[in-house]
Amino acid sequence: MIFHAFLIKYAEIALKGKNRYVFEDALVKQIRTALSRLEGEFDVVKEQGRIYVYCPGEYDYEETVEILTRIFGIVYICPVMIFEEHGLPQLCTDVVNYMKAVHPDYDGSFKVWTRRADKSYPIGSMEVSAEIGGAVLEAFPQARVDVHHPELNLSVEIRSRIYVYSRDIRGAGGMPVGTNGKAMLLLSGGIDSPVAGYMIAKRGVRLDAVYFHAPPYTSERAKQKVVDLAEQVAKYSGPIQLHVVNFTDIQMAIYEKCPHDELTIIMRRYMMIIAEALAGKSHCLGLVTGESLGQVASQTIQSLAVTNAVCTLPVFRPLIGFDKQEIVEVAKRIGTFETSILPFEDCCTIFVAKHPVTKPLLHVIEKSERKLDGVIEPLVQKALEETETLVIR
Ligand code: ATP
Ligand code: MG
Repeated sequence: MIFHAFLIKYAEIALKGKNRYVFEDALVKQIRTALSRLEGEFDVVKEQGRIYVYCPGEYDYEETVEILTRIFGIVYICPVMIFEEHGLPQLCTDVVNYMKAVHPDYDGSFKVWTRRADKSYPIGSMEVSAEIGGAVLEAFPQARVDVHHPELNLSVEIRSRIYVYSRDIRGAGGMPVGTNGKAMLLLSGGIDSPVAGYMIAKRGVRLDAVYFHAPPYTSERAKQKVVDLAEQVAKYSGPIQLHVVNFTDIQMAIYEKCPHDELTIIMRRYMMIIAEALAGKSHCLGLVTGESLGQVASQTIQSLAVTNAVCTLPVFRPLIGFDKQEIVEVAKRIGTFETSILPFEDCCTIFVAKHPVTKPLLHVIEKSERKLDGVIEPLVQKALEETETLVIR
């Protein structure tokens, strides 16, 4: 099957009035970047309020579609066959050949939509549609025309050449990455945070990520798992700078000095402090976590409030109202689930108390944290200085 181009349909971004071109340009850029990873030549052009991806040479159709379906901002991808303009009789033959190739033995209802982008074309669009419809009916005796509720919309666009398409492949939706600033994702090896990153990227936000590990309590393999997850998220979000922070000494200090039932909440506050420091350095305008209300002790409304109290940047928690099952569904769909469930230890789980506080009070937690005065600041400083940054593509 040879399609010569893809028509890229976008919806949400078309609503943006004067900013429309900003969004279109961002989308064109995302498409170019994503396709540059593939073999073959692709020309991505914006013309007459549409975006086309032209494929002048050999290319892998399946792979190309797969990549396009991951680009945020695209609602539908229509594979297009392009024919030279040789008059109406030839056009009818071409469209019939297209139908034979794309919908062999078609026996449903259809409607022909003709659009004259080239207004100098001598025949009116109604007449073109009627002629083509007749030719299709002749070639597909089981098919029928239905202008109100057709099962198949056969589009014919008359430009300097003739574009024919009828298939809509569902795109990722959302907005092009890069149109909505950048945020810092707290990425663990779990199921939730990669999904949270995906959801925020879908709203046009570029991502940086931070992972806290605790060697030797957490292994190289646990870190590799997070790198793998970041790679999977990057297929949607574009390149991610992944900051890997050694959290061991901070965790040990908290473990030594603070009440054990408060460990998780205090640890989470220090994660936020460090994430925010890194966010500031890389121009991120918010933090993103995979927290979901009530999921575990550290995600009760009281715990989230206490965690939040150390942050000055907004914290985005796109999964806040999701059940685990709903999160798992997205994780499976975006391809992170299988990696997330690999059984490697996470730094949070190593020092957890049997009965963590579920309704922490801010002043109580702050009082406990005072026991860290003079000890924790240099450790935070050191952790920041020794942060390793990986670029994930
Ligand atoms: P996840 O499935 O994303 O690991 P979780 O249900 O295990 O989430 P927690 O361990 O309480 O929940 O973590 C809540 C959020 O805190 C995570 O979604 C993530 O954003 C962040 N987080 C937890 N541990 C780490 C870590 N080691 N490095 C970076 N971020 C982390
Ligand atoms: Mg976790």
